[in-house]
Amino acid sequence: MQKYSTGGAGETRPRRLLLCLDGVPYEVIKAAKSRGLFARFNDAAGLLSPFPTMTNVALAQMLGASVPLGYESLYFNTDSQELCGGIRKYIGRRTPDKVPSSYMDDLDYQEPLPFEFLVYVAPDAVWRADMRRFRDKFRAAPHDRDFFAFLKGTDGLLHIRGPQKLNVALESLDRILNEIQDFCGAETEIVLFSDHGMNLEENRKIHLQTHLRAGGYEVKDRFERGRGKRKVAAPAFGLCGYAAVYCADETDPAEVADALTTLEGVDFSLHREGDSAVVVRGARGAARITREENGSARYSYEQLTGDPLQLAEAQQALRDAGELDARGYAPDAAWYALTAAHTYPDALANLHNSLHAPRVRHTADVLVSCHDGYYYGMSFFSRFVRLAATHGNALRASSTAFLMSTHRQFPAHVRAGEATPFLRG
Ligand SMILES: [Zn+2]
Repeated sequence: MQKYSTGGAGETRPRRLLLCLDGVPYEVIKAAKSRGLFARFNDAAGLLSPFPTMTNVALAQMLGASVPLGYESLYFNTDSQELCGGIRKYIGRRTPDKVPSSYMDDLDYQEPLPFEFLVYVAPDAVWRADMRRFRDKFRAAPHDRDFFAFLKGTDGLLHIRGPQKLNVALESLDRILNEIQDFCGAETEIVLFSDHGMNLEENRKIHLQTHLRAGGYEVKDRFERGRGKRKVAAPAFGLCGYAAVYCADETDPAEVADALTTLEGVDFSLHREGDSAVVVRGARGAARITREENGSARYSYEQLTGDPLQLAEAQQALRDAGELDARGYAPDAAWYALTAAHTYPDALANLHNSLHAPRVRHTADVLVSCHDGYYYGMSFFSRFVRLAATHGNALRASSTAFLMSTHRQFPAHVRAGEATPFLRG
């Protein structure tokens, strides 16, 4: 297999150190830069992480790699109609069945597999070891090739300890990167980016399974022959601000989505409608997002009741600018320009694609986005973990990762799916 690193380094462009910091939000990097850290980097772009804002979903998009099987290592397999994967993935060697996406084949450095779990138990020790190992490995690498590293320690540090501790880690990373630059000189470009952001507030669990059971649903680990009325599966793993719900054949996703709007902590739920629409339902109302492809993509936001995504103002602005046609459609690019920094960044394309474009192999029937301050996940974890921050929902804090370079200035916002040329080009 050809490593991504051989293409053009030192010939058509400078050698590149591509370094991903798991879970570091755009706002945190912006603040660090304003304190004088990362001074040799140009301004950071907001890198828009796709919903649900989870590592493998995001990196597969950003790096143009193969889509993971599910949103997390515990996932629902829509072919065999049962839960698969889970904690066993974290034990032992990193064998091919534990590689969720092809981007991992290109990594020159990633933490040893047990760290992925230990980071939530001993985050301080793990990030220090992670950074030290990365630095040593980079120093020992051939100097005429790109180097791609993924530091996961930052994600666990934020989840468990919060932003103050992350800032200590960033100071340490800044020193390492300055050292690397002094050593390598201007012939090496450093590109620093993250996969998703985080909300930086204490998070509480949503009681999704209890709520669904109270509403008359059976929550199952497998569907017998795929059939069943009012039967759902909802993989519970990491403590994150989204939930993926799968429905048995005779169970209506629209009804499940509707049942979830009254659950405390749920911002909205999302389900497919036909081949070209999704419906968003939340306490603020319901709306339909429809896409049409006529040379280029156009989206409409149809308020059924209320304004669940708070897009009425943007829609009016498009109408005033003459971008909205008589049927309510406006060009994708026009919506994007107006909403890249919105409460729900790039909501129409992002949410539509979350159910119509394959971001994982086994796409959910209903996706739930929690309010900041709430998560869904495995009870075992939530019993011994106090969650200082999390990600997963479609809100701005989790959806806005960052991207910056010592050599290039990027646009103010970059969509995950359009980041590949900046990262790998
Ligand atoms: Zn995380």
